Amino acid sequence: MGKYLVIRSCFRDASLYKEGQVKELSDEMAQKHPKDFQLIGQEPKPRPEPTPLPEAPKPVSSPESNPLVCKVCGKECKSTFGLTVHQRVHNK
Ligand SMILES: [Zn+2]
Repeated sequence: MGKYLVIRSCFRDASLYKEGQVKELSDEMAQKHPKDFQLIGQEPKPRPEPTPLPEAPKPVSSPESNPLVCKVCGKECKSTFGLTVHQRVHNK
């Protein structure tokens, strides 16, 4: 047994079912007429949207925000050229 919503008015087993009614029905009967009855409470509930975590503000001095910091060793360089030159030491 289960609770079923009548999704189409019909006449079954000497009973009249009207669209929109909620009835206790045997599963056998409901499964025989899937177009007439829909099981209630079995539909997956839509998941609540996960609230995105607020992005932590990055410190200005972090290597990611400073393009002149060597990503390999963290050395700060005064110019893009200096950084390029410095990074050669890691390419050996
Ligand atoms: Zn380096």
